[in-house]
Amino acid sequence: MSYQNPELFIAGRWLTGEGRETSPILNPATGSVIADLPHATAADLDRALESAQRGFQLWRQRSGVDRSRVLQRASELIRERVESIAYTITLENGKPLNQARVEIGSVADLFEYYAGEARRAYGRILPPRGAGQRLMVLKQPIGPVAAFSPWNFPAQTTGRKLVGALAAGCSCIIKPAEETPGACIALVQACIDAGVPDDVLNIVFGAPANISAHLIASTTIAKISFTGSTAVGKQLMRLAAANMTRMTMELGGHSPMLVFEDTDARAIGATTVERKFRNAGQSCTTPSRIYVHTSVYEPFLDSFLGGVKQLKVGNGLDTTADMGPLANERRILAMEHFVADARRRGAVVATGGHRLEGKGFFYAPTVLTDVPPDAEVMNLEPFGPIVSVVRFETYEAVITAANRLRYGLAAYAFTHSLKRATALSEDLQAGVVGINNFNVNPPEGPFGGLKESGYGLEGGLEGLDAYMDTKFINQS
Ligand code: NAD
Repeated sequence: MSYQNPELFIAGRWLTGEGRETSPILNPATGSVIADLPHATAADLDRALESAQRGFQLWRQRSGVDRSRVLQRASELIRERVESIAYTITLENGKPLNQARVEIGSVADLFEYYAGEARRAYGRILPPRGAGQRLMVLKQPIGPVAAFSPWNFPAQTTGRKLVGALAAGCSCIIKPAEETPGACIALVQACIDAGVPDDVLNIVFGAPANISAHLIASTTIAKISFTGSTAVGKQLMRLAAANMTRMTMELGGHSPMLVFEDTDARAIGATTVERKFRNAGQSCTTPSRIYVHTSVYEPFLDSFLGGVKQLKVGNGLDTTADMGPLANERRILAMEHFVADARRRGAVVATGGHRLEGKGFFYAPTVLTDVPPDAEVMNLEPFGPIVSVVRFETYEAVITAANRLRYGLAAYAFTHSLKRATALSEDLQAGVVGINNFNVNPPEGPFGGLKESGYGLEGGLEGLDAYMDTKFINQS
């Protein structure tokens, strides 16, 4: 497997060097430099904007059937290239190869799903109120999109944005995270090879704040889609307000998981291990506060801890590793801060709680118990391999605890009671809810947060609608 050095993609040309500033891309498993990332200049960004405008005029005129065929072909190419894309993701992000393969499979599924939906981007005809009238609801692609994707799921988060925009008939300038440009490059290459014309897709990298400020200030950009922290999301919303630009914001989460007394707590404890520590816990939907009914707390914790202690942490290229490194040094510092704060407030570190010796950004899978509600880890998104396990006694108390934060992305609950499951689906304040499972983002389902976890939806029919204007027409 070889690694391809990242290049900007502007107006149909791959560009690098030529006096541009660069920043190093690090392998998080070793801390060593993999490559240098070229930064787009202001002139590059202006050329990308002009290109996206041209690309939009081209792509919007292609029929839905035509766009569908291109997306279907792109999905096949992504599947064919799984090994090389997975290698790139593991090198840049650190996750084990198998997890990278699963992520790419989910992107190929997204392309396949939207290949179907591209054909169905239709409006509707309404019954007229008078003779000779035709009342129509027309759907039109919104225009050039500026998309910003993060480093934790570099293929999936980029793919969701690209595919919604392309299916609707929009062009897109995409800025992947500076740590993980490779998956975005591979997806764009698959789209080009599948027949997406020049100018429809542009890739830019650089200091994130400069790029977003430049692109969002332009009236060429009709829509912004961002995945990242709530703090940055708010900054971008302020910038977008100047031109009233439409937005989709997929932001942070702090997902509660509720385990009720009528379940097999031991079995759930075992399955939670993989889900919690996938991608080293750097996922906006990972369970980060586990509330367990006091009567099944001991068996749950015993089985969960047993599994966590067996996790093998190592370089993601090592096929025996269950968990890779964190993405960067910032995440290590954040974990150290959360653990020190929780300890100071009386929490018990049941396992982990420290950085792992050696090169790279490795942190031990960490389980905290007896964590008081005012500990920072119970209030701010941990975004790493740390989870708190807490007891609860009543339904009312656990719902209040689960809903008490300003986050509202994912929530999970395990119960065999149909009545309780129905109540939970109504009472949990989260954009996606898993009841008796963790699978909350299939391609067909809308994905997005409530409260400060975001605004707008990706995936499903809603993820197509997000890239379209809706116009009402009364023709007589
Ligand atoms: P960060 O907020 O600095 O960066 C997160 C992402 O946002 C990166 O991809 C970065 O390139 C981008 N970004 C940052 N500032 C930007 C700007 N002004 N304009 C456009 N893009 C910008 O944080 P970080 O240290 O890289 O990551 C840690 C935090 O980010 C976590 O605590 C988590 O809340 C959040 N995060 C969330 C997701 C998610 O899936 N929702 C993914 C990655 C990171």
